Amino acid sequence: MKLVFLGPPGSGKGTYASRLSPLLSIPHISTGDIFRDNMARKTPLGKKVEKYLKRGGLVPDDIVIEVVKERISQKDCRNGFIFDGFPRTAEQAIALDRITKLDMVLNLNLSEDIIIKKMSARRVCGKCGQIYNIADIRLGKFRFPPILPKKEGACDKCGGKLMQRKDDTIGVIKDRLEVYKKQTKPLIDYYKKKSILRDVNVIGPPEVMVPIILKTIGKQ
Ligand code: ADP
Ligand code: ZN
Repeated sequence: MKLVFLGPPGSGKGTYASRLSPLLSIPHISTGDIFRDNMARKTPLGKKVEKYLKRGGLVPDDIVIEVVKERISQKDCRNGFIFDGFPRTAEQAIALDRITKLDMVLNLNLSEDIIIKKMSARRVCGKCGQIYNIADIRLGKFRFPPILPKKEGACDKCGGKLMQRKDDTIGVIKDRLEVYKKQTKPLIDYYKKKSILRDVNVIGPPEVMVPIILKTIGKQ
């Protein structure tokens, strides 16, 4: 199955994709994780993309498309994949259509005030990218309890140190939301026209959302 998670930064794309990946036995591909990993290892790609990530702007399409092409040509993608954070522009969506045929695009909906609260409280493992959250958000029907590691400051999966992403600060978060509205939101119409878009309202923690998403994709 070839899936894409679409939605504003902080809507939970990464968390849901990483939890669905083992359930569907297909890899989770996050272009953001690929870029951060390359930055940490100071590879040529990492050096090239660093300035865009720091500002919250988008990495140029040709670089992103090249990275994705290479990634999905790998063996583990033969039965499909879950994209999170790609495509982010019309250009990228068109390029993806040329390489492969998507089964479904899940569009995550979440209000901006909750997004800002969630993102400011997001923590990630510096080693494996696992996502945690220290906020306890309750607003009307919305409920986002904290996602804490068993041992404070350390990743459950690999023991890596938890940190705050440099772009998860209020200023950069707002810039990223603006970039989303201008560049990525138009993709909702693009995929609607292809009749592969499904809306998912994000109302609670992964335990609540993962079964809803599985149902939406017809896997439960
Ligand atoms: P979030 O969804 O929380 O914004 P990501 O990890 O998906 O975080 O992306 C982090 C940053 O990586 C983006 O702000 C952007 O600079 C860069 N990036 C990731 N994916 C893409 C993409 N498909 N196109 C352009 N830039 C990207
Ligand atoms: Zn980890």
